[in-house]
Amino acid sequence: TAAATEEPIQPPVEIQETQLFIDGKFVDAASGKTFPTLDPRTGDVIAHVAEGDAEDINRAVAAARKAFDEGPWPKMTAYERQRILLRFADLLEKHNDELAALETWDNGKPYEQSAKIEVPMLVRLFRYYAGWADKIHGLTIPADGPFHVQTLHEPIGVAGQIIPWNFPLLMYAWKVGPALACGNSIVMKTAEQTPLSALYASKLLHEAGLPPGVLNLVSGFGPTAGAALASHMEVDKIAFTGSTGTGKIITQLAAKSNLKTVTLELGGKSPFIVCEDADVDQAVELAHFALFFNQGQCCCAGSRTYVHESVYDEFIEKAKARAIKRSVGDPFKGGIEQGPQIDSDQFEKILKATILSPHVFSNVKDDMLIAKDEIFGPVQTILKFKDLDEVIQRANASRYGLAAGVFTHNLDTANTLMRALRAGTIWINCFDTFDAAIPFGGYKMSGQGREKGVYSLNNYLQVKAVVTSLKNPAW
Ligand code: ADP
Repeated sequence: TAAATEEPIQPPVEIQETQLFIDGKFVDAASGKTFPTLDPRTGDVIAHVAEGDAEDINRAVAAARKAFDEGPWPKMTAYERQRILLRFADLLEKHNDELAALETWDNGKPYEQSAKIEVPMLVRLFRYYAGWADKIHGLTIPADGPFHVQTLHEPIGVAGQIIPWNFPLLMYAWKVGPALACGNSIVMKTAEQTPLSALYASKLLHEAGLPPGVLNLVSGFGPTAGAALASHMEVDKIAFTGSTGTGKIITQLAAKSNLKTVTLELGGKSPFIVCEDADVDQAVELAHFALFFNQGQCCCAGSRTYVHESVYDEFIEKAKARAIKRSVGDPFKGGIEQGPQIDSDQFEKILKATILSPHVFSNVKDDMLIAKDEIFGPVQTILKFKDLDEVIQRANASRYGLAAGVFTHNLDTANTLMRALRAGTIWINCFDTFDAAIPFGGYKMSGQGREKGVYSLNNYLQVKAVVTSLKNPAW
């Protein structure tokens, strides 16, 4: 789907792992089936990958259950778990370039982005979560009566995790990191578009000393493998990142089966508000990044650019000029800002809204579909506003609430907007800042729960209250 006329550059990596990873071993799917994973540049097959379905999910859950119930993992000391995660981070760092090449080959994002930003962030995330492993503890609570009361913060058990294709390695880290730090075991289903980098990373995780069965990886499709995981009776928790529609299905499957707890990171239609005091050149650059980063394939993309009327005309002209300048091409080439979209399905979806290549729509009205629906592509939608109350009301008039951007140097304006906007992240004079310690998640139909940071640990822990009588008997 790339508009490339030249021969695609050969990725600097060999494909090694294509099977399912269950109980510490690479194995074929029970059915023997495979599916092709495609190069987004050309649509050519990169590799045939084992296609897991319900039976493989059963095998993986059995291994995870055993590792949790009997196995070494939750019984290891927190320090030992920490050391494994730190060794894993070292191995990821050592294999930075192979991981980055796999990520770009399977996903289409610029190699420079994979190699210089995303894999280093992956390393950072695992070091961050390693840091938590030996710092998770409960409270001692003063209660009425002759009682000693304490809480134990315990792992939930077997965590099911389903991730999307737009940041395969980072989504892996956001989910695997906290689950392992807290002592859970895992069955993960990767996205069918991008199974390769997680397989490679999981091999390294075992080289780092993770016991068999603690992390199991099943490649496959949503309605088969994904649904089997979400409805499994032996899975204690499900964490999902993807579309809002699929999030509803996952929640229903969890409720209909065993009421496993659910955390969700879903779609968005995030406003990016350029205020009247803005330096237009800087605002254009940031708004451009907020939308076009990662081929526009970010759940938090600043996809409703609200610009104050006093700077609107200048902003439109400069935003168009910036979009035209965007360098699109083979993601393995240096200096490329934008590679191909993930696949032809996604490409067709975007084409409904526009034509290919970076695109800017001006004079958009709030009730147009491009201002309401998530497009997940390089389509910037620019709307005009007059005053703050109005833009607050319009920015909040969305079923989503994942993130919002504000561009202003006026402290009062920034303070007003940061409180009034109903979204899980407010970026002021910045966008897409994703430090390991910063929580991320949605208000409204953008999700439930927070990933990253200390808040993410809540998703993978439960609290046990222990009450000990200080008198015998207590009554
Ligand atoms: P996207 O539109 O970004 O591909 P999806 O929500 O369809 O978003 O996909 C995100 C993840 O959810 C993928 O791993 C996909 O296979 C999985 N998935 C899709 N449909 C289902 C389903 N019915 N049950 C469980 N998982 C699903």
